[in-house]
Amino acid sequence: MKSILAVILLFFSTAIFAQAQLPKDYFQKPLDVPLVLSGTFGELRSNHFHSGLDIKTQQRQGLNVIASAKGYVSRINIQHYGYGKALYLQHPNGYTTVYAHLKEFSPEIEAYVKKRQYANETYEIELFPEAGELPVEANELIAFSGNTGGSGGPHLHFEIRDGSQRPMNPKLFGINIEDNRAPIIDGLYAYPLDEEAHINNSRERQKINLTPLEDGSYIASEIDACGNIGFGISSVDQQDGAPNRNGVYQIEAELNGDRILTLPFKRFSFAETRHLNQLIDYEYYSKNRKRIQKLFVEKGNPLSLYEDVVNKGELHIQDSLNYNYTIKVSDFAGNQRVIRIPIQGVQRNDIPPKKEDKTDYFAQANQPFAAEANGMDIYIPKGSLYSDTYLDIEFGEDKVKVHEDHTPLHKNITIGFDVSEYSAEEKEKLFIARLGYGNRPNYSSTYKKANRFTTGTRTFGEYTLASDVTPPKIWPTNFNDGQWISSNNTLQVKISDDLSGIKSYRATVNGKFILMEYEYKNNTLTHDFSDGIVTDTENQLKIIVTDNVGNSNTYEATFFRKDS
Ligand SMILES: [Zn+2]
Repeated sequence: MKSILAVILLFFSTAIFAQAQLPKDYFQKPLDVPLVLSGTFGELRSNHFHSGLDIKTQQRQGLNVIASAKGYVSRINIQHYGYGKALYLQHPNGYTTVYAHLKEFSPEIEAYVKKRQYANETYEIELFPEAGELPVEANELIAFSGNTGGSGGPHLHFEIRDGSQRPMNPKLFGINIEDNRAPIIDGLYAYPLDEEAHINNSRERQKINLTPLEDGSYIASEIDACGNIGFGISSVDQQDGAPNRNGVYQIEAELNGDRILTLPFKRFSFAETRHLNQLIDYEYYSKNRKRIQKLFVEKGNPLSLYEDVVNKGELHIQDSLNYNYTIKVSDFAGNQRVIRIPIQGVQRNDIPPKKEDKTDYFAQANQPFAAEANGMDIYIPKGSLYSDTYLDIEFGEDKVKVHEDHTPLHKNITIGFDVSEYSAEEKEKLFIARLGYGNRPNYSSTYKKANRFTTGTRTFGEYTLASDVTPPKIWPTNFNDGQWISSNNTLQVKISDDLSGIKSYRATVNGKFILMEYEYKNNTLTHDFSDGIVTDTENQLKIIVTDNVGNSNTYEATFFRKDS
């Protein structure tokens, strides 16, 4: 018993020690401009928590990005989507810093990357340099900020990761952002959590009215409730010098003065980030585009973010008793918004039970589920759903409704189509599509095997077979066929595909591979003449673009350049 206690004490003291021992002046800010954020650590995003700081770059690209500390380049990743051009530095203290959406790297790193892109004849590439190859000093120029990948405007995405590659809040390391404004409360909601529970004469989620007080806090109108209930809050934080509505740092909940839940954004792992879908009220978000963070921990929610959780953050309200529930929402600078919620326990027996939309298709979260009809089939592996759900499934003539996107999915489900009635030529052009806004077919990565096509998806919705017989389009934007373009620094074309989407492209000049960067946001392919590949006066350009079902188009042109 004694030794167990000793182990427990050791564990806690190590945990507290680790927290207190984070180096506070080891990492410097990665840009030499005042830091203004368009995104905070832990901010709620689509299917994930934001893993770093989004630092504004004065609405432009090309700002100097500097090494936050001494170390070496341990990973370089270039993708069309996601992080775009990203650089990872490994530091001697075990941490990694990440710099993403870059425009380009410093000349030395750029040369290192280009050499390998040309050797592999590919723009997208992932490299893991050895420790001695690309060492960097603190404050050394490593890159230029940009807008590559899934970035909605010029900014630098900056992360600090621990030795297990778990992203941590960079502000814990002393990276400071001016902030004198308290978080904004967008709404308070109360949830009955079992069949007996009721809130304000209802068994459904209730929006609770808030009245602002002079000291900046809020008081909620008294709630009449009984049974197991919980609360949810929608809140954002604005910092000095920017209108951006960023994520808050911490939410605390207290019942009658005792802490029952703390949700601080200090660290999480990429393995758990999709469980955000259990933290937020996903259905409410899918219908209203506003994220409510639930302040109770539901069954099967493994998020490691929570601290001080008592009774899963739930309140057990009893008849004739009064309760005071308090929520404190804070930003990292310590600005805080307090909400006081008085609750009166009242047992009511005249409230009709909650309506449940029962269907013929009941899927349990911890069991696989399958259904099929009309040559279409659905398979949901166990662990795809977060909770047991009545699914709204309709097998039509040529499309299948696979529930609605009001329910989140954690893992891929499979949707299959029998294609035996199609000819070989027709099958080539067929793909599985998710019907989007206005019934527009969106390509869903289609696996073709003889007479059965399948797709894996993590989005419920309507799926159908669609056909794409139109090849991609390619047209020049900064030159014309037969032109002299000695003064151009780049060669630029636009590419597009109307249905299944661009799968690949390849460009050559006089038969030699040239690197072209693909920017999907403006459909542009760009070759930089400073690569030094184009050296002849007369040049034959050839670009082949292929879509996701294999339609391809070839663009050919001649251009002339004077030897420089
Ligand atoms: Zn970011």
